[in-house]
Amino acid sequence: MKKFWSSFMALALTVVAGITSVGAADYSVVFGNTSTGAGTTQLGNPLASVLIVTSKFNQPRNVNGTNPHNGTDLGAAYGTNVYAQWNGWVTSASPSAYEMFLYYDINGDGIKNDNVFVKYDHLSSIVVSSGAVTKGQLVARSGSENGVYPAHLHFGLRRDTGTDGVSDVWIRNEPYYRHVTGWDNGKDLDFISYSTFNSNTASVYAYAHDSAGEESINSGDVVIFHRKQGTSAWTATTATKNGHQFTVNMTGRYPAGTIIEWTARANRSSVKGVISMYWGFHPPKYYQPDYDPNATAYKYDFFTNTVQ
Ligand SMILES: [Zn+2]
Repeated sequence: MKKFWSSFMALALTVVAGITSVGAADYSVVFGNTSTGAGTTQLGNPLASVLIVTSKFNQPRNVNGTNPHNGTDLGAAYGTNVYAQWNGWVTSASPSAYEMFLYYDINGDGIKNDNVFVKYDHLSSIVVSSGAVTKGQLVARSGSENGVYPAHLHFGLRRDTGTDGVSDVWIRNEPYYRHVTGWDNGKDLDFISYSTFNSNTASVYAYAHDSAGEESINSGDVVIFHRKQGTSAWTATTATKNGHQFTVNMTGRYPAGTIIEWTARANRSSVKGVISMYWGFHPPKYYQPDYDPNATAYKYDFFTNTVQ
């Protein structure tokens, strides 16, 4: 798993740095180290028109125990058409659960083995309940989960990390961006996004917002955990804030040539009344991990870089 993530993130970061525009596609998804789906894929828009993010991926929150948010909420009036973002198959659809899963044939070989799912949730109706679909095909209509939520479309990518054909919760937005209207390298999509490692400096951007508007992520709210590859204990360093960017310079912390692993935690400290559920990690993995990576058996994702 660690090898996988190291390679994956190296690829993701490489692609991120190289992308300037991708024409009409909406999302650029990097699939690294999958059996058949390696490379970059521009998934289509799940909606037909302008997308507004009403809740970010990885956004710390307290909604039905899903903290942080395991997907992206797009503003969509009740009954808005929802489209397949790629060729694939509807693997399950449940009107009573207001949700459906599509399995995408990322490499286009017609074989259902690319381990990439998308979940659409809070749907008002399902148009295609099973079988093959093509990119851009109408598959469902958005809803409110029978009035439980304001109408919107929740979608999130998942990946089956095993071989059981069941999607594990693994959703991240950093590798997929909307370029057409400039979602700014994921900053508008992901609570913590756009990680880089340049000049020995680990950097992430942290953005939060809710219905009241944008919140400030304060100085001290972002901690970067880092360690030498092959060791287990994380060292926590409070990141330096510069606007929305938070950085830790590793120069002097490790000898040149040291391969390090790092991950970032951001608090949403300006949110009041949300008890013990106010942080997110980047890169994220599965459900919310523990607050202290040194005090948990949960596996963490991390970036891998070499100190120069
Ligand atoms: Zn959602």
